Amino acid sequence: MANIERSLTYRCSDDCEMSGCPGHTGILFHQSTSDAYSFSLNGRILHFERGELQALVDLLRSLDRIDAVQVKP
Ligand SMILES: [Zn+2]
Repeated sequence: MANIERSLTYRCSDDCEMSGCPGHTGILFHQSTSDAYSFSLNGRILHFERGELQALVDLLRSLDRIDAVQVKP
């Protein structure tokens, strides 16, 4: 059983403030016992179970376009 947390700094692709995006901290929480994934992004919390998150990652990877989100293999 593990509670794993990862964070990074990201910038919105559209300016979230008139002065431009100041940058935000995105946090991923993974609870291994329940295989649950949560993301904290600029005040929003998103929850996924494994199948949902795998589908999201696979669909993003299928875009395979340089002008879209990049998902490394
Ligand atoms: Zn922003």
